[in-house]
Amino acid sequence: MAKRPNKYTKILKKIAEKHGTPVFILDHEKIRENYKEFTKELPRVQAYYAVKANSLPWIVKTLYRMGSSFDVASFPEFMIVYENIKNLPAKRRQDFIWDKIIYANTIKQIETLHKLDQFKPLVTYDNAAELHKIKIHCPHAGLCLRIGVPNTGSMVELSSKFGAHPGEAVDLILEAFNAGLIVEGISFHVGSQCNNFENYMQALQLSASIFKESESRGHRIKILDIGGGFPVRYNNKAKSFKVLAKKLNTEFARLFPEDIEILAEPGRFMVANAATLVAKVIGKAVRDGKVCYYIDDGIYHTFSGVIFDHCTYPIKAFKDGEKKVSAVFGPTCDALDTISIAEELPELDIGDLVYAENIGAYSHASSTYFNGFPPAKVIHINK
Ligand SMILES: *Cc1c(COP(=O)(O)O)cnc(C)c1O
Repeated sequence: MAKRPNKYTKILKKIAEKHGTPVFILDHEKIRENYKEFTKELPRVQAYYAVKANSLPWIVKTLYRMGSSFDVASFPEFMIVYENIKNLPAKRRQDFIWDKIIYANTIKQIETLHKLDQFKPLVTYDNAAELHKIKIHCPHAGLCLRIGVPNTGSMVELSSKFGAHPGEAVDLILEAFNAGLIVEGISFHVGSQCNNFENYMQALQLSASIFKESESRGHRIKILDIGGGFPVRYNNKAKSFKVLAKKLNTEFARLFPEDIEILAEPGRFMVANAATLVAKVIGKAVRDGKVCYYIDDGIYHTFSGVIFDHCTYPIKAFKDGEKKVSAVFGPTCDALDTISIAEELPELDIGDLVYAENIGAYSHASSTYFNGFPPAKVIHINK
């Protein structure tokens, strides 16, 4: 039976024919839908989009127009946001810059701190050495203490690299106030693509007890930043964001008074399902009885998430036909450049197009120029 081409695959094909491959097609309507869902399900939370998931300036513009704020983790990311929003009208009147940007990398170069100071930024820290750097090189910053929380069962683990031990948290808060700085908030990250909601529950409980102890020592913290980790439906095994949101709302109401501002730093959630990659079959061989396809995008490029993000992106054909287990490789001369050794694909010919969905996060952002192959061309739709 012939596969009926739907409207969506027709658009993909048309774009690939017009612009060539590999082409990274980003649908801004999806980004807007994701933002709307996030704010609808978590009404108490202001979203700070984590720019590192995909730092294309048009994403920043689209999200800013929706009312989003931003989480940056380097000075170039800070400037991508700053340059792209400073002349745009805000949907909701917010004070520049704290309400719009958090610098959420707990380790900052001294040069970066110097450059940030003029913006009076909100920055995170998780250790005493960083606190002293901030005091000297960025004294106008407001602080957010990042605590380490369980990352069990998350696709990407972060707790081995970041976060103060909860037992040291209050000391680090007092140390900041004693140095003449102000701790505005507590933040954490449960690990990316979190499928274990207990991580969030434990993190909220830990944060609430730090809020309490800090208040009893004379310092009331005003901001709770619950970080990222919100799961995306890559497949049926992924847990539901809606279920998580319900649990979070219950815990917010139980543990944090109304006047505590709550922020989140969703990265993946805003962009993962907003992009599709279309590539072309450029070579074909049979090795040990298995059909091997070589396509013009791979592990060093848009599929870099296979390595860095521990993610998989099923390869789909536009054609129909009996499916066979096939291998799919990228175009470079490295054997690491293997997208999959077991994809179910119909017989393809050189020149045929294939596509991969849900490839908007941690993919194009970590694409390289390895072996002379540039990153995929980006085409925006519904901008
Ligand atoms: C990467 C990162 C995020 C985004 O995480 P997602 O899992 O993509 O939502 C948020 N905050 C910090 C500090 C990060 O490093």
